[in-house]
Amino acid sequence: AKLLDLERILHRQGFGTRKMCRILIINQAVTVNGEICDDPDAKFALDDQLHFTVDGDAWQYREHSYLLMHKPAHYECTHKTQFHPTIYTLLPEPLVARGVQCIGRLDEDTTGLILLSDDGQFIHKVSSPKHHVPKVYAVTCKHRLSDEDLQHLLSGVKLIDEEETITALAVTRRTETLIEMTLAEGKYHQVKRMIAAIGNRVEELQRIRIGQLTLPDDLAAGQWRWLSAEDLIAVQ
Ligand code: URA
Repeated sequence: AKLLDLERILHRQGFGTRKMCRILIINQAVTVNGEICDDPDAKFALDDQLHFTVDGDAWQYREHSYLLMHKPAHYECTHKTQFHPTIYTLLPEPLVARGVQCIGRLDEDTTGLILLSDDGQFIHKVSSPKHHVPKVYAVTCKHRLSDEDLQHLLSGVKLIDEEETITALAVTRRTETLIEMTLAEGKYHQVKRMIAAIGNRVEELQRIRIGQLTLPDDLAAGQWRWLSAEDLIAVQ
């Protein structure tokens, strides 16, 4: 693996300017593989065996970052927001500094699974309409859904301002007012507009799956975790 000095490593991993990183190191705020390293010019191999801490927080060297988050309600998937905090405030600073961004967007009031990365190719691949990674939503509606309604979503509904009808890949009933709906594309407000097109209204919306990756049960709203190698395959 390539060797790089600690100052540049920390800089590239999002811990501030080179000067800020140099000061952190000289001030003994950094350990590498378990020991304080106060030499900014000390060189280390760039691979995932490189474990370090900064001000006590544990990190591992990563060429790129891939994570999933359980998005809470009342957070926005943008960098600049007017009325609500952004989901980026739920991430550690260094990840935001690395340019981690969400892949596709969920509405402010939608909760559930969202992926984030700083790998442009990966973002493109997962979000490209050509790839059609299916996404599953748990949709709570205001009014009870008839079997005809479910059939209608499967056979295609006409959205206002769209030429073509749009279909759900799958629809599963959970209760009278709760369905799970699988979509191949991610048009603006797509679930809400499809439900509106059948004369109903979305009261609660949660994304529960992307590709083969399911929102983990043990991940509370507002929490995030790294994607494993298997997760990365599951979402492509
Ligand atoms: N469809 C919507 O209407 N909103 C979302 O956040 C996601 C899909």
